[in-house]
Formats: sequence, C-alpha cells, structure tokens
Amino acid sequence: MAALLPVEDAQARLLALQGALPSNKIAFSECFGCYISDDVIAQRDQPAAPLSAMDGYAIRFVDLPGPWTVIGESAAGAAPDRAVGAGQAMRIFTGAMLPDGADTVIVQEDVAIDGAALTMTGDGPGAHGRHIRARAADFAAGDRLLPAGTRLTPGAIAAAAMSGAGQLAVGRRPRVAILTTGDELVQAGRSLTAGQIPDSNSPMLTAMLAGEPAEVSLPHHARDDRATLAKVLKELARRHDVIVTVGGASVGDHDHVRGALADAGGRIDFWKIAMRPGKPLIAGTIGDTILLGLPGNPSSAYVTAILFLLPLIRHLAGARDPLPAVHQAPLAAPLAAGGTRRDYLRARFSAGQLTPLIGQESSMTLPLAAANALLIREIGAPPRAAGAMADYIVIA
Ligand code: AMP
Ligand code: MG
Repeated sequence: MAALLPVEDAQARLLALQGALPSNKIAFSECFGCYISDDVIAQRDQPAAPLSAMDGYAIRFVDLPGPWTVIGESAAGAAPDRAVGAGQAMRIFTGAMLPDGADTVIVQEDVAIDGAALTMTGDGPGAHGRHIRARAADFAAGDRLLPAGTRLTPGAIAAAAMSGAGQLAVGRRPRVAILTTGDELVQAGRSLTAGQIPDSNSPMLTAMLAGEPAEVSLPHHARDDRATLAKVLKELARRHDVIVTVGGASVGDHDHVRGALADAGGRIDFWKIAMRPGKPLIAGTIGDTILLGLPGNPSSAYVTAILFLLPLIRHLAGARDPLPAVHQAPLAAPLAAGGTRRDYLRARFSAGQLTPLIGQESSMTLPLAAANALLIREIGAPPRAAGAMADYIVIA
C-alpha cells in the first residue's frame, strides 16, 4: 500500500490544481469576506490636517493660563476662516480643523465664557499639543494599508474606505456545488424508513461556506449509481468552479465518486491522507472545475472541509494565506500518545485551556456541536500531561 500522504502535502497539491480566479472591481457594500487582488495604498493623509479631538477652544500653548478673546468658531466639515494670534482662542468641536496659529485645545469643561472673554477654571491642557489629532496619525498618503490577498473584514473595509478608494479589486467568489451521495440519505426533516438517515453534511457544509467568499448553489444529491453520478458531475462542472462531493469517496462497492469522475471525463487524484478522521480524499478536475471528494462520515466531512475545502475556496478567491492558522494552548487533561495518523481531535478551548471532547468516532455529530477547536496530535506523539502545550485550529 502506498504511504499515507501528509496533510501539508495534500493541501499543497490541492491548491496547485488552479490559481486564484480573475478579479473584479466591486463596491464596498459587496466586498465583505472577499480577498483584495491589489495592495490598498492610501491616496490621502488621514487625518488630512490637524483636528481637534475634543469640544473646547483652540489656543496657543504659550498663552496659558489665559485669559483669551474668542475670535470665531471651527466646526467639523469646513476650514477655519482665520488664524489664532497671541491672546486669542477659537471655539472648536471634535473633528474640526485646527486653525493656523493654534497648537493646543483646552476642553470646554476647563473654561468659563462670558461674551468673547474666556478664562481658565480647570486644570487646563497640561502639555503642548493636547487634544489634537496630528495630521496622518492614522496613515499617510502612499502607505500600504492592506497587502494583496488580505481578507476584507469589517475593520479592513473601514481602513480601505478611509484610504480614498471608492471600489476595490477583489478575487471572484468561486461558484461551489455541494453534492451528497448515498442511497441512505434523506433531506433533513423528511420522514425516514428503515436504514435511512438525515443528510447532515449538506446543511453543515452550506453553513461553513456561508462565512466564506463563495457562491454556493442549492445542495445536490445523487444516488449510489455510477452512471447517474457521472451525469450529475458533468452537469455541475458546467456551472461551477468547485464541486464538493460528500461520501462515496472510499473503496467500497458503493463508492462511485472516483469511477464517475473518470466517466465524466475528469482527471483524478486519489489520496489516502495520514490524518484521522478523514483518510480518503479525492481531488481532481473536470475541465476547469475542481472536484474535491470528502468522506461521508459527519466528523470526517467536517474536519476535511476545514483542512481542504475552506483553504481551496480561499485560495481560489485570492487569499494570500489560505491555510488555517495553528495556535498553541495548554491541555486541560492528560492526552494519550498519538498513532500512525495525525489526529484532529474535536475539542473545546475555554479559559485558555484545551479539552478533547468525549466521542471522537468519525460518525458522530453531537461532538461537532460542542467543538470550537481541533486539537492536533502528531503521528507518534508521546503521551502528554495536563498543562503540556498542544497545537490547535480554531473552528468556531
Ligand atoms: P461513505 O463515505 O459514503 O462510505 O459514508 C460513510 C458514512 O457516512 C456512512 O455511514 C454514511 O451513511 C454517512 N454519510 C454519508 N453522507 C452523509 C451525509 N450527507 N450526511 C450524514 N451522513 C452521511
Ligand atoms: Mg456512501
């Protein structure tokens, strides 16, 4: 038997099947979760001029402790109409431009005003330049704010919108079809006869992809019949960038994904991966469409989707860094030695510690509901005591 493929090698081979999809310029309202195709370079200084950070009076620090004569007002949205000279102050509001001559703001709580006569009643600003947002304190024109391949989180969108850009070039979202296989599967909620089970994988995968830059078509289903499956694959390949099959990926008599992919004119790569759960995985192409064949057991499908499907989607959408980040935390309980495949134990990370959940069988769904981490146990790892550090991936 061929040696089992390490997870990293399988990930590299999968991502090498195709590069990022072409990019389009789209509006901010459309771009959440997408990956930018070009660096976002600031087109302006932010702020573009020194601004007041408080409501108060713009003054010259050398004139402290006053008194002053108030000569006008600077409100947000317009440039002040005059400069501040010796003994003068200008009423100013948060976000308003500092008038020439002024270098400090005294907050309104620290002064008393009588007509145009301003006197200090509180402690005053204390230091030169207080309560002023310096020009370019956030960023300066020409700064690289976000490198290409960055995911557009709400925070990244805030910075990009402030940069002066009106649209962003982002990688196209891959069109993804989820295709379940198995004569025993029934759409969740429908009545079951003996031997049938609800399909949990397509709702699970649909939910997982909802957080990703992907256009997911309705889940599709095919019976365990090679000819039907081949027909469905051919049809789906016409309209999708990725087909994710679930189930039928192994070597049983009713596992037809590999055969059907060949019949549909596809190119196949079948891997047995050194991981648990989720040993068998199919990767291939039908024309420009990538087929990823996940195993059917719910925990196997979940874990292989985290390790292969999400990185594939992110890679096609233009991610710079599509693989899940690995973190470290101490174990809350002892952990037995590792075996001949790398384990991705469904685990709970809380109060800074990792606890593997009871019920690591790949057929189980309930532990998936409780898990928020995959605890990674390397091949042949020695047993570890509580408190020892372990690697994990965040999953929820
Ligand atoms: P397979 O990979 O087709 O051999 O399926 C392995 C196990 O996963 C079997 O017990 C199947 O009944 C189960 N299974 C396959 N697909 C699904 C699905 N979509 N939802 C829930 N269980 C599934
Ligand atoms: Mg099956």
